[in-house]
Amino acid sequence: MLHVTMVIHPGRKPYLTLYLRDTILAGACRIQGLSAKRGGQEVAHWQAIPGFADLRNVWVGFSREPIEIHYDVNPRWQKGRKPSSYLGADFGYLRGMVMLYTPITLKEALLARKQIATYGDGAGQATLQFSLPAQWTLISPWPADGAETAVSRLRNVYFGVGPMSVRTLHAGEATLLLGVYTGLSEDEQEGFLRDIPSLFEAMVRTTGVSPDSRAPYWTLTVLPHEPVSGGASGMNSLVVHNKLSTIAHEMFHWWNGRTIQTTPDANWIKEGFTTYYEGKILYAAGLWSEEKFSDYVDYLRMKLWRDREPTPIDLLEASKKLLVKKMEEEYDNVYFGGALVAHGDNLARDFVAQNDGRRDVLLQIAVEDVEIGPALP
Ligand SMILES: [Zn+2]
Repeated sequence: MLHVTMVIHPGRKPYLTLYLRDTILAGACRIQGLSAKRGGQEVAHWQAIPGFADLRNVWVGFSREPIEIHYDVNPRWQKGRKPSSYLGADFGYLRGMVMLYTPITLKEALLARKQIATYGDGAGQATLQFSLPAQWTLISPWPADGAETAVSRLRNVYFGVGPMSVRTLHAGEATLLLGVYTGLSEDEQEGFLRDIPSLFEAMVRTTGVSPDSRAPYWTLTVLPHEPVSGGASGMNSLVVHNKLSTIAHEMFHWWNGRTIQTTPDANWIKEGFTTYYEGKILYAAGLWSEEKFSDYVDYLRMKLWRDREPTPIDLLEASKKLLVKKMEEEYDNVYFGGALVAHGDNLARDFVAQNDGRRDVLLQIAVEDVEIGPALP
């Protein structure tokens, strides 16, 4: 059980809409005993979660007097599928939208139904406090000293919690807050605390760009493979298992995917280029040898071509088929084809000739123009 205190400073609206939904239906956590107080007076209370969505409007007038919300989170986790939040006896990772109470305005609710994300101040600003077991650290994009953030921004954040070895690092305009779970072996912890800052620095240095930030920190929490298996990334935040190449891949998405955003038919840029740069940045940071990197490029070619003859691939079509029609057989084309375009394989030249003048191709060239790392074999 996790206790959460949230202090909301209402936005410039006469009502604060308290909207509670039984998140257990989404296979996640359950909020219990929510109470909202203002000036010592209770303005709303739910003893048990409603079995369905429930909505109450609290009159706040035009006063900016804060409303303090308290509740407990009762985590649930079903084995066998990758949970989007997890809270175990030893550590956890918590996704804002499934374990935090984040009131929304009616307008935001309507936009959310159309799957449009809003980052306005709708429900106001909040400070957030978790009551964690002693020895546990919260890895959060906001400082623990009570910094305020728009409530709407909390939803898509992944918080790491548990006993952590912590490092912070400034590079360019960005600050990395790194937490490594102390349950990993000493050697592993040392390795991650040394290598992940090098990776982050290499990305800032070689791209010449600081990732486009919505919070003071970029956070990265390294946890055991089970149950996070792979990684999950949200606004300014990433929880990831203990494998350096996955970490490099997910971290590069802070640049390619967040800072540079692409349309779904350009997923060969978002995923393919990231697949390539996960290796190239490991090489640029001095964590991979030249030989290891060139083996990686061979591996990409092997995964892409397998038994077929190399021919140009329509990567826009492949991206659409993978994303819209969920045609898994296009996965290799998008990830490994896109990666080899970034490497400058012949595939790229043919592709550019074939699609001359396309906006996506211009973006590709713009990204390729960025000088990355030392000269390559
Ligand atoms: Zn990816």
